[in-house]
Amino acid sequence: MTRLIAERTGTILPGEPGYDEARKALNPALDPHPAIIVDAAAPADVRAAVAIARDRGLPLAVQATGHGTHVAADGAVLLRTSRMNQVEIDPDRRVARVRPGARWGQVIDAAAPYGLAPLAGSSRDVGVAGFTLGGGVGWLSRKYGLAADSLLRAEVVTADAEPISTDDHPDLLWALRGGGGSYGVVTGLEVRLHEVPVVHAGIVPFADLDRYRDWVATAPGEVSTALIISPEGVKLKVMYAGDDPERVLGPLGVSVEPMAFGQAVMGGTPARHLDFFHELSDEVMAVAVRAGEQATVEIRHWGGAIARHAGPVAAARASFSVIVSEPLPGLAEALAPHATGGSFLNFLADTSRTRQAFTGYDRLAAVKRAYDPGNLFSVGHTVS
Ligand SMILES: Cc1cc2nc3c(=O)[nH]c(=O)nc-3n(C[C@H](O)[C@H](O)[C@H](O)COP(=O)(O)OP(=O)(O)OC[C@H]3O[C@@H](n4cnc5c(N)ncnc54)[C@H](O)[C@@H]3O)c2cc1C
Repeated sequence: MTRLIAERTGTILPGEPGYDEARKALNPALDPHPAIIVDAAAPADVRAAVAIARDRGLPLAVQATGHGTHVAADGAVLLRTSRMNQVEIDPDRRVARVRPGARWGQVIDAAAPYGLAPLAGSSRDVGVAGFTLGGGVGWLSRKYGLAADSLLRAEVVTADAEPISTDDHPDLLWALRGGGGSYGVVTGLEVRLHEVPVVHAGIVPFADLDRYRDWVATAPGEVSTALIISPEGVKLKVMYAGDDPERVLGPLGVSVEPMAFGQAVMGGTPARHLDFFHELSDEVMAVAVRAGEQATVEIRHWGGAIARHAGPVAAARASFSVIVSEPLPGLAEALAPHATGGSFLNFLADTSRTRQAFTGYDRLAAVKRAYDPGNLFSVGHTVS
């Protein structure tokens, strides 16, 4: 059996050359020791990896970039997809067809010559597949929706190692639009692009929290903002994707530069604590300001087109997220009474809380039973 596996392209067993390099996680806290690594180059390799896992009774973990890998793939088949990173733009249909190892930076660069942009997030290095399956909130999402909603179709290898298309399986497409990656291995995605000739974006000093709260209550969908409160002071992240920045940003007293979408550097805050809110009450702001004396707090405005999400992403129903870079003592207790209780898969490392990221969990569980009844895809965030 071992000899047969080793003969397959891209398969690496413990002790073989390349094993230690290929097993590495991006997260330095993880030291995974998979039973078998498959470094896939094509959908046929993905089918082989799934068949190996199924035949040996091993769980299968998928890894494109490792940015969303929170659990070590110990004793599992680790399926790496980073070599399957092709990106193809169809400017007439305004779609990008991508393989599962592609990163957002590739799509941004390939779409830009056509004046098009994808619903990417704060990092070019993050993978399109994991980001989109986990919901995918980006700086254009208040205008165009979550990346999950831009997923038009996917090719998937299910637990029986067979390739299927979501064209024939609308229930699977619904689940993949934010319900995570535990129903099968996605081998191809088609995502919608948007005409975005220019954005006005930047990170500017900003002190007037009350003014922000008044302004944000009626801010239009073309503008996305986040307040950053830290020991260094308060800043505002802004991206405006409309044609009258003065009208929208003037009342806030800020001005940001025009640039191509791909040039905007919006940064991110590590989500050591994460909660969602329907409103920025006095109590929530007071806790955020106090936390900002010791850590970085990012208060981000959701809503707009995000609220049109019809899938399983719980966060789509909230108006604000509060991310804190450190799990400060008493913070969770102080925010909990005001929070929605929901979470967001892409910002959630704790796999014991996966369920909180979803609405319609029973429907997700039914899709899981239909496509992966034996729970082969069980490493990391999973539905059961
Ligand atoms: C620096 C940074 C910035 C970020 N910014 C944002 C942001 O702005 N908005 C946002 O929404 N999120 C953001 N994230 C979170 C990010 O979207 C998630 O971590 C996401 O899971 C990363 O996907 P990946 O494919 O790069 O990671 P991976 O670790 O390779 O994959 C993560 C998970 O996705 C699933 N998956 C990946 N590929 C497949 C596949 N082919 N088939 C089935 N399942 C698959 C698996 O469950 C896997 O465990 C950010 C993360 C980082 C580290």
